Amino acid sequence: MKVFRKINSLKKALNQIKSESKTIGLVPTMGALHSGHSSLINHAIKDNDIVVCSIFVNPIQFNNPSDLEAYPKDLEKDLELLEKLGCHIVFLPEAIEMYPSPTNLQINFGYLEKPMEGAFRKGHFNGVGVVVSKLFNIVAPHKAYFGQKDLQQCLIIQNLVDELNFDIQLVCVPIVRENNGLAISSRNQRLTAAQIDIASNLYKTLRLGESLLRKDDDVAKVKKELNNYLQQWPEINLEYIEVVNKDTLQCIKDFEWSQEIALCIAAFIGKVRLIDNIILKK
Ligand code: AMP
Repeated sequence: MKVFRKINSLKKALNQIKSESKTIGLVPTMGALHSGHSSLINHAIKDNDIVVCSIFVNPIQFNNPSDLEAYPKDLEKDLELLEKLGCHIVFLPEAIEMYPSPTNLQINFGYLEKPMEGAFRKGHFNGVGVVVSKLFNIVAPHKAYFGQKDLQQCLIIQNLVDELNFDIQLVCVPIVRENNGLAISSRNQRLTAAQIDIASNLYKTLRLGESLLRKDDDVAKVKKELNNYLQQWPEINLEYIEVVNKDTLQCIKDFEWSQEIALCIAAFIGKVRLIDNIILKK
């Protein structure tokens, strides 16, 4: 496994690989790797000759400086895991390498960024759009891997690829969960054991929402019931729970199985913000 910190040296190595007609899969991450990331890497290894994993905590996608400050880091463990998984190349740039001067770029994803994460994390998707565009241009992979855990991000990046004609196939990998249902996240490291137990109720709430929607097509009523259900854990500070069209993220008022539907949740447990979602199958 080779580690590159500079864009130019990475590009040089990738040009050589491309001249040998090898396919390249890119897995962008912010490090503090866990089994969710491993799943992305494993998918990429299965599909491509060479896998590039980037580890970069992108400052411009954090709307909250203390969240950026507290973001977990364990580079040694990350590199060990990537080596074990069979990753070929790690791209590990410093912020100054990615942003030699502050960027003025603004990407607006319109209706896709209006609800949920876009509403609660101002500027987040602009930051994601800028860094992913840079990574796509630097690596120019054949395929890139993202997690369904960040469903809105998956749709926004697909939009980026379509609108800017990136010749890259995106793969959206299913969510990896703990045994108790909690979606695995780097931020879970900041939870105590008691908070991890409590956090598993986010997934239980999504599943309850699914079963209620199977019996009752009144979305507003179901959302109210889910809000009430969550009241039993005062430690859970709900930001949103939404029932949306899986492809457009528009809120659904009248539930119909003719469209694919996602149930999405975001909440704070203490100072840690967690998100999760499920896609309802007919
Ligand atoms: P992050 O390092 O949190 O930016 O995540 C890097 C990629 O891993 C993103 O595409 C995430 O959606 C994905 N990811 C994070 N957690 C999970 C999980 N539990 N299951 C699957 N993918 C995940």
